[in-house]
Amino acid sequence: GNADVGLIGLAVMGQNMALNIADHGYTIAVYNRNYERTREFMAHCERAEPSRGRILPSAELAEFVQAIARPRRIILLVKAGAGTDAVIGQLLPLLDRGDLIVDGGNAHWLDTIRRERELDAAGFRFIGSGVSGGEIGARFGPSLMPGGSAESWRLLEPVWQAIAAKVDPATGRPLEGAAPGRPVTGGEPCTALIGPNGAGHYVKMVHNGIEYIDMQLISESYWLLKHLGGLEAGAIASVFRDWNEGELSSYLIEITSDILQQKDPSGDGFLVDKVLDAAGQKGTGQWTAASALEQGVPANAIAEAVFARALSAMKEERVAASAILQGPEVQREANATHLVDAVRNALYCAKICAYAQGFQLMASAQKTYGWQLDFATIARIWRGGCIIRARFLQKITDAYTRDAALSNLMLDPYFRDALHRGQDHWREIVMLAVRNGLPVPALSSALAYFDGYRSARLPANLLQAQRDYFGAHTYERTDRPRGRFFHLDWPAPDRPETETGT
Ligand code: NDP
Repeated sequence: GNADVGLIGLAVMGQNMALNIADHGYTIAVYNRNYERTREFMAHCERAEPSRGRILPSAELAEFVQAIARPRRIILLVKAGAGTDAVIGQLLPLLDRGDLIVDGGNAHWLDTIRRERELDAAGFRFIGSGVSGGEIGARFGPSLMPGGSAESWRLLEPVWQAIAAKVDPATGRPLEGAAPGRPVTGGEPCTALIGPNGAGHYVKMVHNGIEYIDMQLISESYWLLKHLGGLEAGAIASVFRDWNEGELSSYLIEITSDILQQKDPSGDGFLVDKVLDAAGQKGTGQWTAASALEQGVPANAIAEAVFARALSAMKEERVAASAILQGPEVQREANATHLVDAVRNALYCAKICAYAQGFQLMASAQKTYGWQLDFATIARIWRGGCIIRARFLQKITDAYTRDAALSNLMLDPYFRDALHRGQDHWREIVMLAVRNGLPVPALSSALAYFDGYRSARLPANLLQAQRDYFGAHTYERTDRPRGRFFHLDWPAPDRPETETGT
């Protein structure tokens, strides 16, 4: 065979990535379990795709494999989990040693570690690659987060660099304007080898966790402007359009502005007011929060964003409770201009904390799993293509370029100054929300993180004493060196404290 690449799984993501690859001049063999999907895709290509001549469909898996030049590069975009294992199982007997399988699905990183080990032992190459940017990203330039060996990456790199989103190196902004048959060329590609085995999928997962909190923070900000400011959706759309010109400039702020100004196509008023307030989720946010809990990393705002979706999903229960449980009457703020400014600062400060938590989590995971992550590079490849792309990410790249071992993003001078500038507003907004009974779990938990992290002393002294009281868990003392542990037979007015060794 002489196809440059193969791709299995022609649902939304697979179709769009196949077209992206073909638009970059590669010949690509495609296969889908259900051939009807392949036929529909080829019919669409015939109608509308300039690169259709480079897309080679197969009805049979064996024929598909034979169509690809060796060593083969085969991309999977199938349902994550059992679907991926099923397809790998069917592929293996048909492959030759040295062939490369690339899993572009949202795999759990532990599955990716297992698959890489199994395939490596069998003489095959494997890369688990995060793909971000939804269907539009897949079509015109996603952010790609591959994990695997350096040799595997050498096989995939040209394709991944070609199809990834591109960023203008001078401004750090994504290059736009791609169209079918006319991909963007030049610029810095939003991809780099993240690390071995599961590193790429882990980083993609954290990306999604950050996406959850970013969206939740924006939604809370909108809610405060609506209820405290009395602004209607169209007016809030203008606020977000203004914000998109400054330090908050990002894809999510931009689409929020578009969404808020959308009129209801089947009625009066704004569409957003008619959209049911029950959020869905597909699991990567949950994985991020669970991984933080497991490693003991305080990513509380990220977890809070997952819980906020869960609470929203209890729509009927909330409606029933709203008739029983009472809170304060919402008082409008008289000065809307000030409110807008304060919410903007609160949002920016909380966003800094949210990203700090995401990067802390990755810093912990690299120790747990034996990776060496380059945080400047991770922020760099998130500047384009992905859902959290933002001007802000250039600042994170700058921070980790200044200090690759930075222990927390909040300590970087740029972010420290931003927090110092914005925190009065941030506190004011959280207080206003609390006083008015408007829930702001993300804005407030991020603030608790900031205040906790910058506190030399916390009430955990009492907590440790409680643990020693009921469980003899021992405590360290502020007036003795770390690593010396003491115990008291509580309640013990006369008995001496004992040192229990290290
Ligand atoms: P889906 O996750 O809905 O998966 C559908 C595809 O998987 C179909 O091609 C289906 O084939 C195939 N499939 C499922 N089970 C099997 C199986 N046992 N054997 C063979 N093929 C199987 O498609 P999406 O395009 O939404 O996503 C593809 C992957 O990309 C997923 O892992 C997803 O998590 C990930 N992803 C999705 C994003 C998105 O925005 N949608 C963004 C980033 C990543 P058939 O037609 O025969 O049923």
